[in-house]
Amino acid sequence: MSLPKNVLLIICDGLGDRPCKQLGFKTPLEAAKKPNLNALAKKGACGLMYPLGPGIRAGSDTAHLNILGYNMKRYYQGRGPLEALGIKVQLKQGDVAFRANVATVDKEGIIVDRRAGRIDDASELAKALDGMEIKGVKFIVKPGTAHRLAIVMRGKGLSANISDSDPHKTGVRPLAVRALDDSKEARFSASVLNEFLKKAHSVLSAHPLNKERKKKGLPEANIVLVRGAGMFKPVQSFEERFGMKACCIAGAGLYKGIARFLGMDVLEVKGATGKANTDIKAKVNAAIKALQTYDFVFLHIKGCDIFGHDGDASGKKKFIERIDSALKPLLKLKDTLIVITADHSTPCCMKDHSGDAVPVLIAGPSVRSDSVSKFEERSCINGYYRFNSGLELMNEILNLTARAEMIGS
Ligand code: ZN
Ligand code: ZN
Repeated sequence: MSLPKNVLLIICDGLGDRPCKQLGFKTPLEAAKKPNLNALAKKGACGLMYPLGPGIRAGSDTAHLNILGYNMKRYYQGRGPLEALGIKVQLKQGDVAFRANVATVDKEGIIVDRRAGRIDDASELAKALDGMEIKGVKFIVKPGTAHRLAIVMRGKGLSANISDSDPHKTGVRPLAVRALDDSKEARFSASVLNEFLKKAHSVLSAHPLNKERKKKGLPEANIVLVRGAGMFKPVQSFEERFGMKACCIAGAGLYKGIARFLGMDVLEVKGATGKANTDIKAKVNAAIKALQTYDFVFLHIKGCDIFGHDGDASGKKKFIERIDSALKPLLKLKDTLIVITADHSTPCCMKDHSGDAVPVLIAGPSVRSDSVSKFEERSCINGYYRFNSGLELMNEILNLTARAEMIGS
């Protein structure tokens, strides 16, 4: 039996589900026609995985770190730095990064729209705030998609242990940022950030783009709401850690950010949107091509999670069928270890992530196949694998590719 030459890891975000009434008490994955996934299941071995541990509800960011072999308890620094890396902000050690929105407040300072009418481009507004300096702290402000921004504080004596200004609802004022511990650094960071947010409000209120929006009767993007503070610290790259040259194909910024955090190359694919309208075939084809130059290709597909959050079981089922048909070329791969799984379940009945196990499929050279012939949640119960953490999946990938370190002698 030969060894796999390379690895293709496909993470279908939020794929796992629970029985849905609309689908005759099948899960979307069980209800979907998926001849290609089933053919791979027949060829390989299946099972279940708890990305962060049995019953633990995982976020996408923490689950991905574990699955990619970086213990989230040690390496997770908050969502802010990952989102900033996702839009190509060059972070330095000690930077404090946030996710941010431009939003709308009325004359009384009450938030009336958390996304400023889903403004389609905030880059002019970001430019007006970028580079501002307060008490020796520089603010880097870069536009994400639509109403989203990344904000980075760069300077000495900072802390990420500070609260959000985003109250996550309308009808209230933005929150004052507070220090979450007693340190000088946290108090300093909170006060500098509060000052920045105040200045940002006056700069944005006076911005020509907002005057124009007002004239058109559109909500003004006149305030910035921040959340998810995290301090950036570089980590050992995926290649150094596991000896595999790695790349990522993803549409949504967070996953590109996670890949950049781990030193992977991020390949841009036309039509990869990170939404339900994404071009899955183009992404799969790009992944197969990338296997010629990379030892490890991480392909991320977001759609299932979006349908799960919307509670749309039949939409999720149809999206899975689109994934399945795009995966057909995988059946021809001879030397690749194919790993297909999810970062968490997003049951349609919950409209949110659950702590349920997710299905796992591993096929390719060196895999001891089992009797599971359908890639779906309840068939996988009878499979070979049971991973109690995403970290165990990476151990098995290293094992199957003869890269695992021996314990003892
Ligand atoms: Zn996710
Ligand atoms: Zn989600």
